[in-house]
Amino acid sequence: MGMSLASHTLPESVERLVSEFKYVPQVVASDAERELKDEQREQKLASPKFGTVFTDHMALISWVNGKGWRDLRVVPYGPLTLDPATAVFHYAQEVFEGLKAYRFPDGSIWTFRPEMNAKRLNKSATRLALPELPVDMFAAACAALVRADKKWVPSSPDSSLYLRPFMFASEPFLGVRPANAVEFVVIASPAGSYFASGVKPVSIWVDTKYHRAAPGGTGDAKCGGNYAASLLPQQLAAAQGFDQVCYLDVGAGGRIEELGGMNLVFVRTDGTIETPALSGTILAGVTRDSLLKLAKDRGLNVVERAIHLPELLEDFAAGNIAEVFSCGTAAVVTPVGRLAGDLHGKRFDIKVGDGNPGKITMELREALTAIQYGLAPDKHGWMTRLV
Ligand SMILES: *Cc1c(COP(=O)(O)O)cnc(C)c1O
Repeated sequence: MGMSLASHTLPESVERLVSEFKYVPQVVASDAERELKDEQREQKLASPKFGTVFTDHMALISWVNGKGWRDLRVVPYGPLTLDPATAVFHYAQEVFEGLKAYRFPDGSIWTFRPEMNAKRLNKSATRLALPELPVDMFAAACAALVRADKKWVPSSPDSSLYLRPFMFASEPFLGVRPANAVEFVVIASPAGSYFASGVKPVSIWVDTKYHRAAPGGTGDAKCGGNYAASLLPQQLAAAQGFDQVCYLDVGAGGRIEELGGMNLVFVRTDGTIETPALSGTILAGVTRDSLLKLAKDRGLNVVERAIHLPELLEDFAAGNIAEVFSCGTAAVVTPVGRLAGDLHGKRFDIKVGDGNPGKITMELREALTAIQYGLAPDKHGWMTRLV
């Protein structure tokens, strides 16, 4: 692909690690079974439902205190057998990541800014008293899995292979201390076009009762516990007809933070892009960072600052905000069509724009996905070739 000017292949140090993975392929008994499996895979790839279908293999690396990371392996996808006393079941010592593998028009397979995910995993791991994983090992595990399961990377428009690396305390022990045994695993799930059935802006409940993060907590770590705590508010909002919850900080001023699993961005009528600054209680999204850079590339004014709910409502009332979208790896960009909540006991309910996805929202989405799918020059050197 001549398009990818600054894109690169895996460094030699990562390739060496990839070759260290022990590969235990899924057993296929006969040609007939292989044909059946191929057929089933093609069917699943034709209309993948997010997070329900997984590829044939998974990559694992084990850590033992004092010995480090060992036993790099790619094995058939399947259940992990764990002792009921395994620490993660009790104290939720777990962190995860999410990134994608994309098929370019020439059939090659690439991933997007994987070093950002590797570094963020380590930041999350440190907060959860889990060991850091060398950045090269993260990349090597993703590459080893994608190479084993390359047939699972879809080629239809806007589809990709979602990679879910995660790390958890695997030691069977009920005492409260960091585990001495940890497992790092990468699984993969084909993801179809998010906008396959048309773009429908989502509605958001701005929650003034529940919070997802507090200063000094785990808000800027990507850990399962944050998601567990978001399920009840999400359920309550859904019962009222809302798609997503937007969280505020714990202060009295009602500073806007983010959704349960996506960052939030506002487009002002003058074209300025505004998003809550990384406050220490927000997850630093790779999509957020990339979209802000692309907005700057396009000459848009980009502002990261504290945005408070009362001020935001005044801005809406004055007609200063044209578009709102949320962003994250899974859905890339999701237009927001409605924002509602209770402020000081008074209900607000705002319709954003005309109910259609905003122009700048969709332009930024298009600019990002064009790079990810090898359809536009990769000026920032964000893409890494895996296959
Ligand atoms: C993963 C996540 C995001 C989005 O991050 P990306 O790197 O863009 O996928 C945003 N907020 C939270 C809470 C998350 O867990």
